[in-house]
Amino acid sequence: MDINYASIITIGDELLIGQVIDTNSAWMAQELNKIGIPVKHRLAVGDTWDDIWYALDEECKHASIILITGGLGPTSDDITKPLLCNYFGGRMVVDEETLAHVKNIFTNILKRPILDVNLKQAEVPDVCTVLKNEKGTAPGMLFKKNGKVFISLPGVPHEMKWIMTHVVLPLLPTLFKTTNIVHRTLLTAGIGESYLADLVKAEEAALPPFIKLAYLPNSGMVRLRLTASGEDKDLLTKELDTHFQAFKERVKEFLVIDEDLPIEVVVAEILKEKKATLATAESCTGGYIAHLLTSMPGASAYFKGTVVSYDNSIKTKVLQVPERILETVGAVSEETVKIMAESVREIMDTDYSIAVSGIMGPDGGTKEKPVGMVWIAIAKKGETIAKRFDFRYTRDRNIQLTGINALNMLRITICG
Ligand code: ATP
Ligand code: MG
Repeated sequence: MDINYASIITIGDELLIGQVIDTNSAWMAQELNKIGIPVKHRLAVGDTWDDIWYALDEECKHASIILITGGLGPTSDDITKPLLCNYFGGRMVVDEETLAHVKNIFTNILKRPILDVNLKQAEVPDVCTVLKNEKGTAPGMLFKKNGKVFISLPGVPHEMKWIMTHVVLPLLPTLFKTTNIVHRTLLTAGIGESYLADLVKAEEAALPPFIKLAYLPNSGMVRLRLTASGEDKDLLTKELDTHFQAFKERVKEFLVIDEDLPIEVVVAEILKEKKATLATAESCTGGYIAHLLTSMPGASAYFKGTVVSYDNSIKTKVLQVPERILETVGAVSEETVKIMAESVREIMDTDYSIAVSGIMGPDGGTKEKPVGMVWIAIAKKGETIAKRFDFRYTRDRNIQLTGINALNMLRITICG
């Protein structure tokens, strides 16, 4: 095998019934890619002896590194540890360092008596190398067999991430030859995936075999990603950048940013750079746009606040939308969102404002105003623009799409 692949096995019945969404292997795959270890397979198996055993047997045929998360706890459904002990032909022994760590957590941090099951966390197969877990009681374990490395980590995401970041990711490149994987991403808006593919077909045809192109549509925008992999990193990066420039030039009319960033980050950067401020008036999104903005540290530099004018009385009382307008053209209309945007900009004394009003569903749609119909307005000094969107998805997704498209409209208003 030329390339050293990793496979990720996530363990737990809760993953199979969809009660817990497997975010562990997605995060791990991203981190492994960054250090030049491509992932061959990601699979989820239940807390079942034979299934886990079979997954281990199978994955070591395809990958050099097998990463396992979950099932390490002291409860009876967690069978990973005894299974691994058996699989690698060891016996359980107490790891003194882990024992001291577990005792310290219970005595000094949790201030609770230790139960026998907790002490069991310090028992590990004598054929493994213990990987310290500063964030919890279940240690990680590393096993070697026939030139392959097996690493078992706790299922709790922040514990798994701590061991990966501090122990596993620094260790792997010392055990295996890694390859170079370089990504470049263009975020586009206002053009569908198939039209975009048509637009860049000449550039795509010119790509060498070691550069792969991918389209990642999401929330009305499409990410176009180029990925190069190979031995010589400098050469790889140089070639990739040449092709990336050609793609960028071709899509420039639709380009949002030439980095893999979400729209709220792009907008935040623009507002900071321009030293401009923003307020929102949100009806159908109920504060979602404000939430996207305030999820980022430092938002107070540009974001002043929001009025969640969900009920029409708030549109009238707080945002001065005349009752006459609500009665004639209604709350989901160009007139209403424009007044909402202008009023909130004035009340909060900002450079820009966003206002949204729409029908998110599943009920409340009519023939003239169907579910998914949204009006978005952007106001700045001396000018207010508004645009109608028709999303027609589920409620969640309609809210999300409204937020993202509103932020993109603001971006276009500011940047032209
Ligand atoms: P503990 O020692 O805390 O019991 P563990 O290794 O036994 O850890 P699990 O019991 O399998 O881990 O899972 C603990 C919790 O971690 C689960 O309830 C779940 O919320 C979360 N979890 C497990 N696997 C995943 C996964 N693949 N992706 C995201 N979260 C996960
Ligand atoms: Mg479990």
